[in-house]
This record gives sequence, structure tokens and C-alpha cells, in this order.
Amino acid sequence: MMHLTAETALDLIEGRLTSDERAVWEAHAQACKDCENEIEYWKRALGMLE
Ligand SMILES: [Zn+2]
Repeated sequence: MMHLTAETALDLIEGRLTSDERAVWEAHAQACKDCENEIEYWKRALGMLE
């Protein structure tokens, strides 16, 4: 399994992935702390977390 790149994390957050891709990465992020952190980082950077 590959890990999220910044580009993929942004695509995920901004809704540019297919539903299949999204499901794969969301499942991965639940099992992989590094990728969960990557998603959190970009959500925060984009002001999408309070
Ligand atoms: Zn990962």
C-alpha cells in the first residue's frame, strides 16, 4: 500500500477523487497514523477544521 502524497491528500479533501479512491484512502488513513496526520494537516492548512 502506498501512502498519501500531499497531492492525493488535497484531492481527497477537495473531493477530486472517485468514490472508490476515496474509500481506499479513508480506510488507509484509519489504519495509518502518518496518513491520518497528513489529512489533518491539510484540512487545518485549508481552514477546514475549527
Ligand atoms: Zn499511510
